[in-house]
Amino acid sequence: MPELRHDPIQRRWVIIATERARRPSDFSVSNPPSTSDKCPFCEGKEAYTPPEIYAVRDHGGPNEPGWKVRVIPNKFPALRIEGDLGRAGVGIYDKMNGIGAHEVVVESPQHVFDISDLPVDHIALILKTYKERINDLRKDPRFRYILVFRNHGLTAGASLSHPHSQLIATPVTPRIVAIELESARAHYTLKERCIFCDIIVQELQTRSRLVSADKDFLTFCPYASRFPFEMTIIPRYHSHDFAQEPDTQLDNLARHMKEVLLRMRKALNNPPYNLVFHTAPSYHLQSKRPGYWTTIEQDWHWHIEVLPRLTKQAGFEWGTGFYINPTPPEDAARFMRETEI
Ligand SMILES: [Zn+2]
Ligand SMILES: [Zn+2]
Repeated sequence: MPELRHDPIQRRWVIIATERARRPSDFSVSNPPSTSDKCPFCEGKEAYTPPEIYAVRDHGGPNEPGWKVRVIPNKFPALRIEGDLGRAGVGIYDKMNGIGAHEVVVESPQHVFDISDLPVDHIALILKTYKERINDLRKDPRFRYILVFRNHGLTAGASLSHPHSQLIATPVTPRIVAIELESARAHYTLKERCIFCDIIVQELQTRSRLVSADKDFLTFCPYASRFPFEMTIIPRYHSHDFAQEPDTQLDNLARHMKEVLLRMRKALNNPPYNLVFHTAPSYHLQSKRPGYWTTIEQDWHWHIEVLPRLTKQAGFEWGTGFYINPTPPEDAARFMRETEI
């Protein structure tokens, strides 16, 4: 059973994956299979993965060919689904069992290069699969947060090149999300406005950091971008929860995402990147907890962070939490805007 251990000074939980215990020699970097004949995510290789949890399919039965998007448990999960939380103190420290869910969304039966190669309606199926899985996992009262993310490229952490994303349900709200939630709540308490809606109004007026805008969605480089060409994708209308978006909006999001990801790929010559979805926590089950806030539907605004991995974090970043970004977001946005796709 993996353990969640709390660092009382940094106020951060760490997953100690006891079952994946590795010796120093296990950390050498190896290249993932790049061809489809060795790939367990390709159609026809269903027997090489754990049995599926969910699939969108044209034909065939579970764990047979005929699917379009397929969700399977991670073969090497960071967290375990079975068991109780077992919250406990260990002297000055706190721990709990590493309970959670760790799923892999195989985005296509074909071994294509990237999500941006897929047609818009297929990208929409992937987004609808996220929604489906988030809503299902939210029924489990042990899970406080469900994070969807995708790694593209070896240096961004993708160990298999077949396009896939991951979903991790955690028994605590991740610290980075918790800080954003707290800031949004504080802004709302003070001003009775959503801080993200305020940012959207300003970015649409300023325009210098805009990458793309359509009727419903907006992509911009954040004012204090940590990384060169960092982007935020966000609905222009107020909406706190990705998992409550109607399917028609996910169709529009798919169109917007394809354009932005193609832009990034062309402009930056296929960079490794991470996509991270920041949606609302599973607040419907927690709202009865004392002190849990009630304005989340008004103060929170879901969004997606796009993080190209062009720079390496070194001692200064790790030691301070400061980032040195060599590309001003205004320049990054102009470059992305002017890229022909
Ligand atoms: Zn494959
Ligand atoms: Zn808003």
